[in-house]
Amino acid sequence: MANMDINEFREFGKAAIDFVADYLENIRERDVLPSVEPGYLHDLLPKEIPEHGDHWKSIMEEFKRCILPGLTHWQSPNFHAFYPSQTSYSSIVAETIAAGLGVVGFSWICSPACTELEVIMMNWLGQLLDLPKCFLNCDEGNGGGVIQGSASESIFIAVLVAREQAVRRLKIAHPELTEADIRGRLVAYTSDQSNSAVEKSGILGAIKMRLLPADADCVLRGDTLIEAVEKDKANGLFPVVMIATLGTTGTCAYDNLEEIGPYCNANNIWLHIDAAYAGASFCLPEYAWIKKGLETADSLNFNLHKWLFVNFDCCAMWFKDADRITEAFSVDRIYLQHKYQGQSKAPDYRHWQIQLGRRFRSLKVWVTLKTMGAEKIRNLLRFHISLAQKFEAYVRSDSRFEVTSSTLALVCFRLKGDDSISKQLLDNITKRKKIFLIPAFFQGKYIIRFMIAGLDPQLKDIDYAWDEVKSQTDLLLGTDDNGNKVPCKSSTDRNVLQKEKPIVEISKSFNGLALSNEKIQ
Ligand SMILES: *Cc1c(COP(=O)(O)O)cnc(C)c1O
Repeated sequence: MANMDINEFREFGKAAIDFVADYLENIRERDVLPSVEPGYLHDLLPKEIPEHGDHWKSIMEEFKRCILPGLTHWQSPNFHAFYPSQTSYSSIVAETIAAGLGVVGFSWICSPACTELEVIMMNWLGQLLDLPKCFLNCDEGNGGGVIQGSASESIFIAVLVAREQAVRRLKIAHPELTEADIRGRLVAYTSDQSNSAVEKSGILGAIKMRLLPADADCVLRGDTLIEAVEKDKANGLFPVVMIATLGTTGTCAYDNLEEIGPYCNANNIWLHIDAAYAGASFCLPEYAWIKKGLETADSLNFNLHKWLFVNFDCCAMWFKDADRITEAFSVDRIYLQHKYQGQSKAPDYRHWQIQLGRRFRSLKVWVTLKTMGAEKIRNLLRFHISLAQKFEAYVRSDSRFEVTSSTLALVCFRLKGDDSISKQLLDNITKRKKIFLIPAFFQGKYIIRFMIAGLDPQLKDIDYAWDEVKSQTDLLLGTDDNGNKVPCKSSTDRNVLQKEKPIVEISKSFNGLALSNEKIQ
C-alpha cells in the first residue's frame, strides 16, 4: 500500500521545488489564460475520495495532466490584470518552512518567536515605508502592527473596532437611547471608488456604508465627506468610521487625506486607510506625496502579497492606538485591563484578529526582507514603474489611443471614440489568451487597465504586450496607426506589421533608476 514515509517526503519535496523552479523559469511559454471550459475538472477527476492512497509520483503526473492546464498564470509577466500578487523565491521557501513547522501562534506562549518576530517585522516594515512614528510599536505612544490575511479582513476589523468604540462612547453620551437604538443609527463612509471589500465590511459589520461620489479624477474630497456627515448628524445619525483609499482598485486614485483626515479627527470619526496596493510605494521618497496626511489615520493596511514580494496571504495592518483593538475585541477584558510587563513586545495577537489560530506569516516576511534588503526592494519597485511608463509611451505614440490615467505600475487607456471599440479590443485580446488585462470605468468611459505583474517582468514583456495590443487594434480597425489598410492577418503578418513602424525608444532612466543592460536586452 502506498503511504508517505520520511524518505518519500524528502523526494516529493525536492521534486516539488524542482517543479516550481521549472514552472516559474519557463512561465512565458504558457498562455497566461487557460483553455478550459467551466466544469472541466469535474470530467477529469473521480467523484469520490479514493479508498487507497496513491504514490506521489502518480499524483504529480495527475497534477500536470489535470490541474496545471486549468490555471491562470498569475506569476506570468503577461498577466496585466487586477493588481499583482508578486511573490519571490525567498518567500516561497520560507512559506514551505513555516508549513513544516506547523506552529499556531495565537498567544506568546504558543510560540514566542512567532509573536516576537511579527512585532519586529511590523516595525521593519513601518520603517521601510517611512510611516509616521505613531504607528510603530515603540516606547513612545501606543502604536502597533499586526499581520492579517487580507486587506478585506483588515478593513472589516477596522470597522468593527470603530463601531465598538463608538457604541461605548455613545452609550455614555446618550443615556436616553437603548444600545439597539444606538447601533441602528451608526453610519460609515467610503468613496464609490473603494474596493468591494469596503462595502462588504459594512454588510458584515451591520453598519450603513455610504458610498460617497468621488470627483472626476476618482478622488474623494473633504467637502463631499463633510456634507454627508453633517446631513447625517442633522438627521440624528452617528457617523463612526471613514475608510479612505490610497490607490483605488479601478484607477489607483488617492483620496485626499489632507482634507478628510483633520475633519475625521475633529469629529471623532475613526479613519482607516486602505492602501492595499499603493502602500508598497510609501518606501519610495519620490512618492512621499501619496501618503501626505497619513498621520491623521487611526489604522491602515497594505498588502505585502500585492507588491512587496511576499506570497499570498500577507497583509500588514497598523493602529495608532493598539489598545483600542484589544479593548474592542478581547473577550477576557477584566484580565487584560492590567497591562502586564512586556506586553508591547509580546502582544497576544489573538485579540487583534477574527480567528483564534494564526499562521506564522512573519517568517516569510523576515526571510524576504533579509534576502532583498531595502535598496533592492526600492529599485525593483522603480523598475516596475519604469516598465509601466514604457508601456504608456507606446500607447501615447499611437494616435488611435488615449491614456486616461497612469500612476505607479498601472496605466489606464482606451481607444478614442465609442466605448464599444475598446470593449471589442479587450474581448479579442482576452480570447487569444496571450496577455490578460481587465477593464474599469473612468469619467463614465470604458477603459483598459494595464498592470505590471508576475514574478519577474522584463522590458521584453512590455514589447510583447504592446505588440499584441497594437496588432489586435490594427486588425479590429482594419488600418494601422498611419491609416494604412491592414490586409487579412495571419500571425506572420502580425510580425511584419510590427516592424513597419519603429517602436519608441525607452529613455535611459525613469525616476532616477538607470535600467541595466541585462534588464533591457
Ligand atoms: C486588492 C484590494 C483589496 C482586497 O485585497 P484582499 O487582500 O484580497 O482582501 C482591497 N482594497 C484595495 C484598494 C485593493 O486594491
